[in-house]
Amino acid sequence: MNKKILEVKGLKKYFPLGGFFSRKRGFLHAVNNVCFSITRGETLGLVGKSGSGKTTIGRVVLRLIEPTASEINLDGINLVKLNGREIQRTRRKMGVVFQDPKASLNPRMTVKEILHRPLAIHDFPKRERLDRILDVLESVGLEPGHLGRYPHEFSGDQQQRISVARAIILNPDLIVLDEPTSALDVSVQAKILNLLTDLQREFKLTYLFISHNLTVIQYICDWVAVMYLGKIVELTKNERFFEIMKHPYTISLLSAAPIPDPKRRYEEKILLAGEIPSPINPHPGCRFHPRCSHRMEVCKREQPDFTEVEKDHSVACYLYH
Ligand code: SF4
Repeated sequence: MNKKILEVKGLKKYFPLGGFFSRKRGFLHAVNNVCFSITRGETLGLVGKSGSGKTTIGRVVLRLIEPTASEINLDGINLVKLNGREIQRTRRKMGVVFQDPKASLNPRMTVKEILHRPLAIHDFPKRERLDRILDVLESVGLEPGHLGRYPHEFSGDQQQRISVARAIILNPDLIVLDEPTSALDVSVQAKILNLLTDLQREFKLTYLFISHNLTVIQYICDWVAVMYLGKIVELTKNERFFEIMKHPYTISLLSAAPIPDPKRRYEEKILLAGEIPSPINPHPGCRFHPRCSHRMEVCKREQPDFTEVEKDHSVACYLYH
């Protein structure tokens, strides 16, 4: 049985509102009580609209921002309990690829310097560094002749390959991919997705894949978690994703996704009515209830538990309790 490489329990992230002298006080509940895990060699896709909290989860897992509460176990180490120096050491176990390669690569550094930096920070043996850089460069489809060039000399596709090379160079346990294809031309998105799939197969990489695009999620992920206003509302294995999804919000998302799948059962686009509730001090009930055509009295009062409705499929909705 494959090992769980990442386990996240009770993740909360609230951002305080207003300054010290401001009368306006309160918290923006960006992520509220989220739990999930990822098995080594698999990909979990976090999908949702902007503002659903998926990018915040990625940043908390990477410890780029502090959680309000959580337990985050990466290969048995609780990241939340680590101090600054320990976090720095543990960073070698995590890689990240951001949405915009142009913004995430230092324009004043050559490809060689970009790839050398993480090796130097984490004391990779000096004599092996150049070999490691050349190996990784070949894995992402670039050539030794590219080492002396600067990021602006590459196409968007090649720039994202450099970002991927930097993310895998220390052979991390987990890679967070935050919308890695959204800033690219449609014509090259598939190339990067194929590269990520090939690298995962070759090196048994584990991905947390964040995206608003259901088509991309369906293509690359083993598991799919659907987020709405800071909570996971549905989690299932990807192979049956489009056939079995049950949560009213997921069904509306699927109905709007342009997916050329003959088995797809959502023929008509579902337009959501009602106000999107504020994530600032949110009401106690189901966060989707103001927009849900199935809402009941209980939905306004209490949040539904996340319940396993069948094997490998959990839903937070009173319709399935
Ligand atoms: Fe709709 Fe109630 Fe289910 Fe929320 S819990 S999605 S309001 S039926």
